[in-house]
Amino acid sequence: MSEQNLYRQLHNEVQRTAPPDPGRQKPERHFRIAMLAPPWIPIPPPGYGGIEYVVALVTDALVERGHEVELFCAPGSRSKAFVRPLLPEAHPHEIERALIEADHVSRAFEAFDQAAAAGHPFDVVHDHCGYTPLAMADRIDLPLVHTVHGPFDRETSPYYDHHGHKGNVVCISRSQAGMAPPGADVKAVVYNPIDVEAWPVGYQKQDYLLWVGRFTEEKGPQRAIKVAKATGRRLILAGVVQPRQERFFATEIEPHLDGRQIEYVGEVGGARKQQLFADAFAFLMPIAWPEPFGMVMVEALAAGTPVLAFDHGAAVEIVEHGVNGFLVHDEDEMAELVERAAEIKPEDCRRSAERFSPHRVAAGYEAAYAGAMERATSGAPA
Ligand code: UDP
Repeated sequence: MSEQNLYRQLHNEVQRTAPPDPGRQKPERHFRIAMLAPPWIPIPPPGYGGIEYVVALVTDALVERGHEVELFCAPGSRSKAFVRPLLPEAHPHEIERALIEADHVSRAFEAFDQAAAAGHPFDVVHDHCGYTPLAMADRIDLPLVHTVHGPFDRETSPYYDHHGHKGNVVCISRSQAGMAPPGADVKAVVYNPIDVEAWPVGYQKQDYLLWVGRFTEEKGPQRAIKVAKATGRRLILAGVVQPRQERFFATEIEPHLDGRQIEYVGEVGGARKQQLFADAFAFLMPIAWPEPFGMVMVEALAAGTPVLAFDHGAAVEIVEHGVNGFLVHDEDEMAELVERAAEIKPEDCRRSAERFSPHRVAAGYEAAYAGAMERATSGAPA
């Protein structure tokens, strides 16, 4: 082994594994963008916060690419864009509360009008904020691009079927787009980004399996426990117990926590989270729902850790069987394949994460903005 490789192995060093990102090419056309984040959690998120992480990276990449971006968001946010907090405080414990969303969104709409009145209008709104802006998109004078962060399911599909045509709906995986109701009128698929270079690659693996996320039935922490018990491997669980999920955690998870084989380390963030991902022997994603994207899979890959996932939703677009992990049907198959994670190279995992670079994602959104603006000027339906 070369001295350089040995150094990398010992230090879990960040290493580029792919040629320079083609998405880095600067665009010819520049936009003035109103980026509308939710009011719940600051950008970037201090811990849990999939949407906020995406907004942070896309926003910074757009600024680096020369666009003028104002970020309408919760206070406490940081960004390369001009930060415009709308409410006096963040609301991490009242997610989806209508009072707060209505207050936040209507203040953003006021700001769009003020910008136009001041002779410096936005070209486009990029909305990540729940359900209000898309439903009201035909009441504002700006084209609106809406990223669908959640699933199309029994609750949300009627909403998208009815309101989708008012904005320009962008999906975060082909799998998610394939489930859209006809009225959603999906205009593009743009994957979520990851700042690969910010993640240390783990070459020196420890023995534990890792699960990170929200403790819900569909994300499968209880199935990860089953896999760990079947293989005799240690399992570290990290994540949040959201309101209404306390009972699930108390009955399906807590009884199995013994602090030795099955360990819960709470909500994690920052360098500690990255190290957990980098050191893991394998990441488990035993999902039982059409996962719209699954940031945690891409984070594991960036950290050089193979992903074992059930073949649902976007997992089949992210996991390349035998290259950066394994796709399986159930817990038994996952348990059977766990040891084979040792055959997967950290470099290959890392390389597979590089196709989700923020600049490539930003380029995808630039095309979506251009399309939205064209449709707005031509008078065609959004
Ligand atoms: N996350 C975190 N700390 C935790 C649990 C989760 O920072 O304790 C992050 C995780 O790293 C990922 C996001 O929250 O970036 C979850 O996004 P994902 O798409 O996996 O799931 P979602 O909850 O959005 O369905």
